[in-house]
Amino acid sequence: MTPDQFRRFGHEVVDWIADYRARVEARPVMAPVEPGAIKALLPASPPDDPEPFDAVLADLDRVVLPGLTHWQHPRFFGYFPCNGTLASVLGDYVSTGLGVLGLAWQSSPALSELEEVTTGWLRQMVGLSDAWQGVIQDTASTSTLIALLCARERATGHGASRGGMQAEPSPLVVYTSAHAHSSVDKAALLAGFGRDNVRHVPPDADYAMRPDALDQAIRLDLSRGLRPCAVTATTGTTTTTALDPVGAIAEVARGHGAWLHVDAAMAGSAMVLPECRWMWAGIEGADSLVLNPHKWLGAAFDCSAYFVRDADHLVRVMSTNPSYLQSAVDDRVKNYRDWGIPLGRRFRAMKLWFLIREQGVSGLRARLRRDMENARWLADQVCQRRAWRVLAPVPLQTVCLRHEPPGLEGEALDRHTLGWCARLNRAGAAYVTPAILDGRWMVRVSVGAEPTERAHVEALWAIMQKEAEA
Ligand SMILES: *Cc1c(COP(=O)(O)O)cnc(C)c1O
Repeated sequence: MTPDQFRRFGHEVVDWIADYRARVEARPVMAPVEPGAIKALLPASPPDDPEPFDAVLADLDRVVLPGLTHWQHPRFFGYFPCNGTLASVLGDYVSTGLGVLGLAWQSSPALSELEEVTTGWLRQMVGLSDAWQGVIQDTASTSTLIALLCARERATGHGASRGGMQAEPSPLVVYTSAHAHSSVDKAALLAGFGRDNVRHVPPDADYAMRPDALDQAIRLDLSRGLRPCAVTATTGTTTTTALDPVGAIAEVARGHGAWLHVDAAMAGSAMVLPECRWMWAGIEGADSLVLNPHKWLGAAFDCSAYFVRDADHLVRVMSTNPSYLQSAVDDRVKNYRDWGIPLGRRFRAMKLWFLIREQGVSGLRARLRRDMENARWLADQVCQRRAWRVLAPVPLQTVCLRHEPPGLEGEALDRHTLGWCARLNRAGAAYVTPAILDGRWMVRVSVGAEPTERAHVEALWAIMQKEAEA
């Protein structure tokens, strides 16, 4: 494709995306397809000869669109908001269009320095002190893996450069809450701790980690000759957006010399609001934290911000420094290849830069506040209606709810919940995701897609009543 052909097709693609966003509301939110339906529309082998590019674009409508669940739909209330705002989409285009890689500062100085500046902006936006330095990773799963690798290497005095975990005299233990994201367990397993050495600390009545139970678990392990290595606290758990008490947990972790990582992947965006910062009070006592601007904040996926207080330690754990990547300016620049796992890095800062500049901090704040008010409105309606219940506090934008008709309990209640939820999703007018809380199915309503206004939440509430009370 020549630059001139690109100009023509590129305009078509932009128009297509603009039309998609403008008209997405008319589509069923959840993809109405059976497994295998999309594959069946595609040839089994690749084309031998070049195809006209118009034919490729035409298949976006024929093949791709019918097979999508629409995250940017105003009545998308599933999982969590993952808002690819259009300004950040343009940033992503530019990044891809430039086709540059950040292997080292010298391989694309603007890539590195824009990342340094935008993560610095983000740090200020969420009220972190300048003791923190940030880097953009692909996902929170990666950021949390890096945190546990750094914790492991701090506890072992860089044991990886000797016999690794296999040479440690006693097993190292990771502590997290029973409500932590599955990525914490996964990171602990991948970092070599072993499932036997991952503790799930029991929660309090609001689903937050209990610092006293954490301390107890650590002391029990110490008495058995194990070594506490890392604690992962969550600001905004996935099921209920519960808030682990970071300050008290930091004190416990510090008392035992353990690394504290805070997973604020979803809720971190809300720290842009000064009135929300109590939710992670004590954050300065953590060693690392992750927040995903690619969720509620609105940067196009993927854009996960990982912040650390001791960047030298991170670099020492991650650096490889082969001769072909060295340059004369290395002592004056950030080589972000040494701040994470991959060597090649996309220009992810571009979409964050576009987003923050186009919205301004005030624009981002207004949208987050709108979403929190909408969630509170819904929670109020649910509380006031007979046989409906809100099951967990609503500090942010997620409402955990259940319709509990009199006489319905146990597995019969589960069948009712999953039944109306499936009917609602299949009808296509809105999308919600069920989850298990306290051993029973309930429905999570995650408010905060970019186009979601009060009217859409009102519509959802009407649909839920219709499906559940029918
Ligand atoms: C979304 C989420 C994750 C996983 O995020 P990825 O970026 O998809 O890896 C982890 N923890 C929490 C609390 C989350 O909300």
